[in-house]
Amino acid sequence: MPEGISRLAKPLVLVVEDEAALVTMLRYNLEKQGFRVEEATDGQEAMTRIAETQPDLVLLDWMLPTMSGLEVCRQIRRRSATRDLPVIMVTARTEDQDAVRGLNTGADDYIAKPFSMEALLARIRALLRRSSAVPSKGQLAFHDIAMDLTAHRVQRNGRPVHLGPTEYRLLEFFMLHPRRVFSREELLDAVWGPDIHVEPRTVDVHIRRLRKSINATGELDIVRTVRAAGYAVDTEPV
Ligand code: CA
Repeated sequence: MPEGISRLAKPLVLVVEDEAALVTMLRYNLEKQGFRVEEATDGQEAMTRIAETQPDLVLLDWMLPTMSGLEVCRQIRRRSATRDLPVIMVTARTEDQDAVRGLNTGADDYIAKPFSMEALLARIRALLRRSSAVPSKGQLAFHDIAMDLTAHRVQRNGRPVHLGPTEYRLLEFFMLHPRRVFSREELLDAVWGPDIHVEPRTVDVHIRRLRKSINATGELDIVRTVRAAGYAVDTEPV
């Protein structure tokens, strides 16, 4: 069992995929690695299975009959019960633009077909570590932002802020080191983990999502972009 994943409960992965052979292969390998597996073959079934089984993570194929993976992801993010559910989008497209589109829809990560089981497992484990595995304790405060790490709640100006698992970890890391500038590579190491290969541009997508969630209209943008260096949480512009 990989470090950081509960030894008591096997994490449940919902595989949403319409290719039967791929589902069989994924189920076999995931179960061998200590995961429980549920299946759905289209988007509608996926939403039903999510409500019924409350998975720890959804592996979501982009190309599905009747409802695309993108639409499923949008619905997952729209519903309060599933807003924080970790989603890995499986795409047959290799164009970066499509991957970024998937992330902008609310997926936490993506992997392009064909993929190796090792690469997929690394992403699943990294995302589960980010989303839930070992919750930190205590409170963090910076400017008008408060993070209750024990309750896993974020507030700005007293208003609740909902963040996806990756945005939450990013903010937590920034707030542990306020005003310090981190490069994309440093952020990938700290938040995604050193054992996983992710395009540095992925960081930009999650920073955009963090900004969108944490900055309400008229509020100061507390995420500072430092050209050619990286990002910081700061109240000073440039
Ligand atoms: Ca498919």
